[in-house]
Amino acid sequence: MLKKTGKHPLYKSVDRRSFLKGTAFGLASLAIPFGTSDASVWDAFFQKHFREMDDDEIKSVIKRMEKEYADEYKTDFKIKTTGPLPGVKFGYGLDLSLCIGCRRCVYACVKENNQSRDPQIHWITVLQFKNGERWVNVFEEADRYYNPQEVPEEGHFYMPVQCQQCENPPCVKVCPTQATWKERDGIVVIDYNWCIGCRYCMAACPYGARHFNWGKPHIDKSEINPDVHYFGNRPRYKGVVEKCTFCIQRTRENPGRYPACVEICPVGARKFGNLLDPESEIRYCIENKRVFRLKEDLNTSPKFYYFFSI
Ligand code: SF4
Ligand code: SF4
Repeated sequence: MLKKTGKHPLYKSVDRRSFLKGTAFGLASLAIPFGTSDASVWDAFFQKHFREMDDDEIKSVIKRMEKEYADEYKTDFKIKTTGPLPGVKFGYGLDLSLCIGCRRCVYACVKENNQSRDPQIHWITVLQFKNGERWVNVFEEADRYYNPQEVPEEGHFYMPVQCQQCENPPCVKVCPTQATWKERDGIVVIDYNWCIGCRYCMAACPYGARHFNWGKPHIDKSEINPDVHYFGNRPRYKGVVEKCTFCIQRTRENPGRYPACVEICPVGARKFGNLLDPESEIRYCIENKRVFRLKEDLNTSPKFYYFFSI
């Protein structure tokens, strides 16, 4: 039996990366502890790609994971696998005239989506710009570490950035294991159990929206959100990449809920809805405001629209 340490068994003694190394350079370097009788290690390691599993296989994987998470965080987990709803493609709007740079969205996202508190991972970055400054390279010219006494700071404006859920996502194209893909409702998802941590997707993403778990993510048991989705906010492992999923665990409900960042924003700068619904708020914004998308010249075609309303 493997020694129980409270860590996820897959990444304790047998990670996919080590395994690939082992197969490439000979079984001598394989990290699997031969002779182990811990079935969950083997089940986790040989878990099929999500899209190749049938309903029974998915049920058994979910059951195994719910138990692993419950053991680690001492609370019952509900892992949803809800698929895309028919007739839905999600889009996001951000009114830069309203955003005051308070970063409440950043921390609501951390809490809802079980992001590591130590080391800290943030799926949303709020950038600060000086009024009147010309942008050539948005990310290099902005101040992402602004820390004034109060916000908004005189003479500045703010631009929150997160995964842009591109229609042509470069991150998906480069993934060697097909651990990441775009779903029918436009959300780009990651199967953390198939991610080998190569970080090609991070290099390919022009928005800096993907984040790597260099260490084991740490979240206090008292702060864990046990209402999770397989592709979203379920606890991650050391060595995998993660990013915003438009709060898939909320937005794919029927009726859907707003993403946590939309709900928390004190000034209503964040808009969200179904791009295929002509009555939705996001459609109103696109049709009535002068919207722009980040780095449009790259042809990534984000479903994230920025605008100034004033
Ligand atoms: S919560 Fe709203 S106002 Fe505050 S930084 Fe986020 S988008 Fe801007
Ligand atoms: S790090 Fe990115 S590119 Fe590499 S396997 Fe994971 S999702 Fe795919």
